[in-house]
Amino acid sequence: MLTSNPQELWSQFLECLSERCSATEFENWLAPIKVIASSLEEITLEVPNIFVCEYLMDNYKKELASFLPVRVSGEPAIVFVIAESKRKAPLPSKPPLIEPAPSSSSELKLNPFYLFSNFIEGPENQFVKSAAMGVANRPSRTYNPLFIHGGVGLGKTHLLHAIGHHIKNHHKKLKIQCITTEAFINDLVDNLRNKSVDRMKNFYRSLDILLVDDIQFLQNRLNFEEEFCNTFESLINQNKQIVITSDKPPGQLKLSERMIGRMEWGLVAHLGVPDFETRVAILQHKAEQKGLKLPQKVAFFIAEHIFNNVRQLEGALNRLTAYCRLMGLEASEEVVEKTMGELFQGPSSKKISVENIIKSVATLFEIRASDLRGSSRTKSVALPRQVAMYLAKELINEPLKNLAAFFGGKTHSTLLHAWKKISDQVEKDEKLKRQIQMARRNLEA
Ligand code: ADP
Ligand code: MG
Repeated sequence: MLTSNPQELWSQFLECLSERCSATEFENWLAPIKVIASSLEEITLEVPNIFVCEYLMDNYKKELASFLPVRVSGEPAIVFVIAESKRKAPLPSKPPLIEPAPSSSSELKLNPFYLFSNFIEGPENQFVKSAAMGVANRPSRTYNPLFIHGGVGLGKTHLLHAIGHHIKNHHKKLKIQCITTEAFINDLVDNLRNKSVDRMKNFYRSLDILLVDDIQFLQNRLNFEEEFCNTFESLINQNKQIVITSDKPPGQLKLSERMIGRMEWGLVAHLGVPDFETRVAILQHKAEQKGLKLPQKVAFFIAEHIFNNVRQLEGALNRLTAYCRLMGLEASEEVVEKTMGELFQGPSSKKISVENIIKSVATLFEIRASDLRGSSRTKSVALPRQVAMYLAKELINEPLKNLAAFFGGKTHSTLLHAWKKISDQVEKDEKLKRQIQMARRNLEA
């Protein structure tokens, strides 16, 4: 059975938060907190001042409650000790001042877990992963720049850091920097203030590899955009490798045409939402790393409920691990339901519309909602459309004629036919059954 160790749970809580907040926020608010005592019932945290305590309880109470021991009231069982009061004690405690994050321009900071070997492949990310590995193996000689875009929590930063690790280990002579756009801007602001912009420019322009995360934060930052664009051009002109991540493709970013054009020079690769099998594989891989025994049934159950974000999938697993360790339980579907209440969609409270069904089914099958409303008969669209029609009849109590009208003006008999067909198929096809369950839960949230 797994043991419970509050110190370790605190580390897991931090690990989970480090994914969710910015590096600066993490450094300023979370890193200075220390565990000074812990038991199964309570944990004692030393905080630099009362603000850190408030910040923690205002922003992360729920997460704290799921990772740490809780009181009967459901509140996290934490005793806060302000470091101030301890300063007089003979302990050589360093003054826990809240300082800004150190300037990022020299040290290479990579998340040690974000390696290619930890990145699970599936049909939606295979291409991006192999492009990233291509760049890591032969920097400046394959795609330059490599532009990776995709939704939140799908592994953009993971791949960016994996490139960083690989180059650091295999091309030791190359000078590499990995930076978030936010940190680049902060760096620039600091250097402007200290009148040391030239030093910063020289630093960036002397790199062999520049890895830039979340370029979307450069939008509406005109002055910074120009400086970034100059750095970018200077590096590309010297045939230095650049990799950029973003939540949108270049053309959809509100940046200058010059900047967009530069980013489209190389390879633009899209990172998609992992399919069910990949999500299960990710869960199993992460559970193994954490030493959690995760029965396949439970992995299926989680992967069915959380389907568009790997970070959430991981959050769910962290919570499950913490709970099982605290309570000395094995991971089971009941425990999952208990610990993940609000991550999973609860019982229906909102009115379901055909539009919502169309959107949900489109996301599930990764096609455009407009395709479902249209009349294309290709198989990749026809089946999802029938699923949407089936759900419309199942979930909405309205005349079939009205429901059918949403699907490119189809008739009620087409809708009825679709409903019959899917009702039969669901009995025989496990995958389809799961997909429909997923869509239902999503809609009934
Ligand atoms: P993004 O930068 O796209 O918002 P991250 O790279 O931070 O997302 O990924 C979120 C979390 O999900 C990370 O902990 C990452 O390790 C994990 N993750 C995402 N995709 C995969 C994958 N294919 N295999 C394993 N872990 C993944
Ligand atoms: Mg990221």
